Amino acid sequence: MEQVQEGSGIRISRPARRIGWLGTTPFFAIHLLAFGTIWTGITPAAAICCVALYFIRMFAVTGVYHRYFSHRTYKTSRVFQFILAFVAQTSAQRGALWWAAHHRHHHRYSDQVEDLHSVSQDGFWYSHMLWIFDEGTQSTDYNRIRDFARFPELRFLNKFYLLPPIMLGTAIFFWLGASGLFFGFFFSTVLLWHGTFTINSLSHVFGNRRFATTDHSRNNWLLAIVTMGEGWHNNHHRYSGSTRQGFYWYEYDITYYILRALSLVGLVWKLQPVPEAVLAEGRASDRLHGSMAPVLPGNTVQG
Ligand SMILES: [Zn+2]
Ligand SMILES: [Zn+2]
Repeated sequence: MEQVQEGSGIRISRPARRIGWLGTTPFFAIHLLAFGTIWTGITPAAAICCVALYFIRMFAVTGVYHRYFSHRTYKTSRVFQFILAFVAQTSAQRGALWWAAHHRHHHRYSDQVEDLHSVSQDGFWYSHMLWIFDEGTQSTDYNRIRDFARFPELRFLNKFYLLPPIMLGTAIFFWLGASGLFFGFFFSTVLLWHGTFTINSLSHVFGNRRFATTDHSRNNWLLAIVTMGEGWHNNHHRYSGSTRQGFYWYEYDITYYILRALSLVGLVWKLQPVPEAVLAEGRASDRLHGSMAPVLPGNTVQG
């Protein structure tokens, strides 16, 4: 533990940041492998594969790791839950239980000293990606995710979290060859990682603050495109129990539209709405400050 001097003068303890640099090796190796595309070239099939794998897996990150396992904003069957977890884990962002347990911790302590990935506490690169390799974030605290840890098949996936991405990469290689592997799989995986990570880093720095939450979360229309709806991050920190994060019709939320489609065919159900009181609160704030203020650093409408 290390002592941190707070503005109020109160000293609070938190685990010291200790990045396991050796553990970052595969992560940076995949970045280098993405450049293998220079030698393999890009076939049309590999290009389609890259775009498809980015969007399918981004949906799985936001719609599954985040809106299902972390926040339980809809329900599904045990079989489809396993399929969703498997697809989400092809993103190579560790197990669904690991992801959700750490994310629940973020909501509990966002931008406080205990937060595991806070820009204001630890700087951009740590909050963006280095926190993943911190010795303090390696294990899964099953107490934080007891509701899903009771399923042995999910604990299996969580333990062998590299199985889904290795299976996907291997299948792509045999199907589309070297170009498919290097551009379709490795390159899209790197894009997907950094697209996802912007929510922990940039979405707590750039954008509009419709709601005066206790953290620094922002709504950012550009990041909402990159992340298929997660960019409405200030909305989400105000109310994390709803399936949609774009609270109003003009706040596009592709992940939510896909979940709505899945609910129409009966694969998922009980999608949670945004409470009317929260919507009214947001409308009142927009009338005062405007909702789509430019994406600029320090654009703090409130709070
Ligand atoms: Zn969340
Ligand atoms: Zn956040």
